[in-house]
Amino acid sequence: MTAHNQVTDLLKFIDNSPSAFHAVKSIADQLAQSDFECLDEKQKWVLKPGGRYYVIRDDSSIIFFVAGHKPLVETGYKILGAHTDSPGLKIKPNPVINSDGLLRLGVEVYGGPILATFTDRDLSIAGRISYKTAEGSIASQLIRFEQPLIRLPNLAIHMNRTVNEEGLKLHKQNELPLILSTMIAEQLSPDFFKQLLAEKASAIKPEQMVSWELNVYDTQAGVFWGNEQQFYTNSQLDNLASCHAGLQAFLDASVLQSEYTRVCAFFDHEEIGSESTKGADGSFLPDILQRMALALNVDREGYQRALAHSFMISADMAHAYQPNFPAAYEPEHKVRVNKGPVIKINANQRYSSESISAALFINWCEQAGVPYQSYSHRTDIPCGSTIGPMTSAKLGIRTVDVGNPMWAMHSIRESAGVLDHAYMIKVLRCFFSATT
Ligand code: ZN
Repeated sequence: MTAHNQVTDLLKFIDNSPSAFHAVKSIADQLAQSDFECLDEKQKWVLKPGGRYYVIRDDSSIIFFVAGHKPLVETGYKILGAHTDSPGLKIKPNPVINSDGLLRLGVEVYGGPILATFTDRDLSIAGRISYKTAEGSIASQLIRFEQPLIRLPNLAIHMNRTVNEEGLKLHKQNELPLILSTMIAEQLSPDFFKQLLAEKASAIKPEQMVSWELNVYDTQAGVFWGNEQQFYTNSQLDNLASCHAGLQAFLDASVLQSEYTRVCAFFDHEEIGSESTKGADGSFLPDILQRMALALNVDREGYQRALAHSFMISADMAHAYQPNFPAAYEPEHKVRVNKGPVIKINANQRYSSESISAALFINWCEQAGVPYQSYSHRTDIPCGSTIGPMTSAKLGIRTVDVGNPMWAMHSIRESAGVLDHAYMIKVLRCFFSATT
């Protein structure tokens, strides 16, 4: 597949994934097509070498793996980690604000989005709803409004004369509610929002609706840009681009037939610190690795030995150099778009890379014929982090933090390079199928 086709597929994946719930569903659908079997954490597992499996926790984190033919105790796990969530706005439990002849929806800020980029976009709503069934139990469903539904109109420059000098500052409580309707109080039923959701859901009445987790998302589809269409843009490149690269590499025939135990772990809640039942700082990955070992008849010491043999790549997007803002970057670590995956290094272990894990990744890049770059944050600006330090601390697995260069991280419209996506798929394929 050409790099352009791979990115076309990525853009489609993101367009179909307006929430972490949808992203995991898109991934699970692809796995099912490739004969992966869904495992339930509540059931007993019977695994066989060469078997393909996936486990979903709470609809928005997923771990999938192929059990190797070679003994786990001697080869360990080859793991790729990434995250399924992106920063943004989430609808509040009682969202309806009715005043001044307008109905607005109240939102909470999830993680650290660039809020100004949410203004004047064609926004809508997607996520998970929970409802009472006719039998009285609780069930869930994914929901998505396809058409633009809500909007955050900017303040005209005539009322905000310093916006270009001082930037657009939005008060999180007062200035983020999103306009939905001209409905006035007399027309409004107390169940208005439940009715709205019920109309969109399949076969649910408003009175059955109980609770929801809903994202605000941008309905604009992803596109290519640049004189040679060498760049692409969409929402959620951080970090669905890494999930997509990992999935594509994993589903390659050479990887599926490899004799080693390979694992992809994609977590929700990275943008808010990963501390949850399904986050990277929770029990999901240790639980699944341990259960894999038990189901493959590996004892406790064998499991610890397997961990000691293991390696993890933590893939999350990196900051590409934007020449309009030279002061923001470390001058000797300018990461360029379309010049290859980036190894992220931080002396304070905000990234988990060390010299050996970095060298191993460089080796795979060289074997795959993929260029690579190194990133170090400016010393006078606090550095972001990833899931790498958490999972490596928990499991004692040697880890490298890498990611593709991108612009405008946490904007609702992020950009990256076409070649880099293809490079990442190639090096991950090499990692998964490497015999060392
Ligand atoms: Zn990220």
